[in-house]
Amino acid sequence: MSLSILATKKLPFCPACGHRVVTQNLSKAVAELGLDPLDVVVVSDIGCCSLVDSLLSCHTVHGLHGRAVALAMGVRYGLGTKNKVIAVQGDGGATIGLQHLLEAARRNVDITLIVQNNLVYGMTGGQLSGLSPRGFKDNPASVEEGVQPYDICELAHKAGATFAARAFVGGDTPELWKEALDTKGFCLIEIVEMCTAHGVKKLKELKDTVEYGETVLRNDKPSLVVEPRATDSLFDVLEPVKPLFEAAIKEPVGVILAGSAGEGVQSAGGLLATAGMMAGLNTTRKGEYPISVGSGFSVAEVILSPQPIEYTRIEQPHTVIAVSEHGINHVSARIGDDTNLLVDDTLLEMLGSRSCESAPFRKKAGAKSAALAAVAHWMRSSGMLPVDALIESVRGHRYEEQLRKAIGSI
Ligand code: SF4
Ligand SMILES: [Mg+2]
Repeated sequence: MSLSILATKKLPFCPACGHRVVTQNLSKAVAELGLDPLDVVVVSDIGCCSLVDSLLSCHTVHGLHGRAVALAMGVRYGLGTKNKVIAVQGDGGATIGLQHLLEAARRNVDITLIVQNNLVYGMTGGQLSGLSPRGFKDNPASVEEGVQPYDICELAHKAGATFAARAFVGGDTPELWKEALDTKGFCLIEIVEMCTAHGVKKLKELKDTVEYGETVLRNDKPSLVVEPRATDSLFDVLEPVKPLFEAAIKEPVGVILAGSAGEGVQSAGGLLATAGMMAGLNTTRKGEYPISVGSGFSVAEVILSPQPIEYTRIEQPHTVIAVSEHGINHVSARIGDDTNLLVDDTLLEMLGSRSCESAPFRKKAGAKSAALAAVAHWMRSSGMLPVDALIESVRGHRYEEQLRKAIGSI
């Protein structure tokens, strides 16, 4: 029995948008080929056509604009020869990711790329792409003599794709879809279609506007044979942390550690998470800091839990540990009335009457070790985790001596 990969009939596209028909035709073709949805991976990026990933019952990967082909190549390299890998892009995404497209074509990687070419960046309001025809919407390329839209099929074909075909929406026959999906190697199917909101509204108008015609181009170059990488899984390489201690934690505890970039906040968060594992807990650690990693705030969120952790964000922190002004400013909105607050004593003045615990972490341990000193202090004062677990977690660290000093500084 063939199953549809389309999980819903309610498609989110504007009325008469070409993406509706293309999505339905893709689903029909997958069903007619008898593919199990669980053997299909659809990779999309940004744009209206990439809304499909929430509509499909197969595996989906959603990436950055223009990166669908690069991601699909990664999926193919990871899976080896198994499964059907399909990438979906608009004309905007295909233009942005043209280099990826050409690389996939010249290696003839076994993926099928569907380029839904509606002549514009539809999602962002109808800007022109590299596939927009001359003379369309006063395309500035038109005034530069000889500047033509990319012929994406011709480019893919010349680069080495097994199959490249262009059809107008409605002319994308089941045979064309079948060949695009059932041929080994890099296969590109470009469907020229309408963006009724920002581009062309009718099929006739579309055909009059577009200067390139339907085409089918084939190469008989063999598909690249990709075997899954023979590297070890991280789980095989990493030594599991042995629980040597006991924690007094019965429910998940979320600790937010807030300080300044470059002052060891992420390391201290990592060591707290490791100490938690050494005490037999499940732990997660998430880092947050500005793109300029050497200035501004640095925040580490650590969850310590006897139960499996299924969601890694801390909604309501049990404890906030803040060791610098940058840190406390960044997390102040997350400090609730019930949150335990432990701060460096230089922050007391700005906290006013808010009750908290404090100690001179920066003065005693130094700015770069204040976060770790505060973590050690919290472990001792809360009694939730033995500080010996933290000492054990720095064993063999290249800065073991300094870290031990920080742990014992207060
Ligand atoms: S904006 Fe254009 S591409 Fe996007 S859903 Fe509407 S008609 Fe389709
Ligand atoms: Mg588009």
